[in-house]
Amino acid sequence: DAVARLVADRVLDVPDFPQAGVVFKDLSPLFADGESFRGVIDGILEHYGRGSFDVVAGIEARGFVIAAALAYAAGVGVVPVRKAGKLPREVLSASYELEYGEAVLEVHADAFVANQRVLVVDDVLATGGTAEATLGLVERAGGTVVGFTVLLELAFLGGRKRLAGRPVHALLTV
Ligand code: 5GP
Repeated sequence: DAVARLVADRVLDVPDFPQAGVVFKDLSPLFADGESFRGVIDGILEHYGRGSFDVVAGIEARGFVIAAALAYAAGVGVVPVRKAGKLPREVLSASYELEYGEAVLEVHADAFVANQRVLVVDDVLATGGTAEATLGLVERAGGTVVGFTVLLELAFLGGRKRLAGRPVHALLTV
């Protein structure tokens, strides 16, 4: 569809980044183009529907860009899910394996009101480790995950299988 095409038309394949053998999908050109950026944000909002979530959680760092725009468009707030050591108050932490390496994500322990409906966003779904850790954090913090959405899903890395039973949505799957 038209929204998927916005992503397909503005993604660059970068071989051997951040390490040999990995082809990194660079979405900077999509973010940098006003019409495309607005189109993907509107596409996500249209998919879920206004009023279907209470807050957007964005995963550092490209997820922040999407989360902030989407939250603003929907008239809701935004919560950052950050890499370890960045949040100033009490946090919940989750360590997870990445496509390349290992990492820790954190969210403020009081980030969500009990049962608040949370839409989680990121730019790319690869192996699903980041998403799995984040969705667990949101739930531990008391939120209810109503969706996890990405601009681009790399199906060959099996993230959707890892997130089986989760409401995963991708604007474009390759
Ligand atoms: P996963 O945990 O699913 O393996 O990796 C997803 C996370 O790593 C996301 O936060 C995403 O931003 C980043 N990531 C992994 N591979 C890529 C890629 O090819 N392109 C981009 N833009 N991000 C990636």
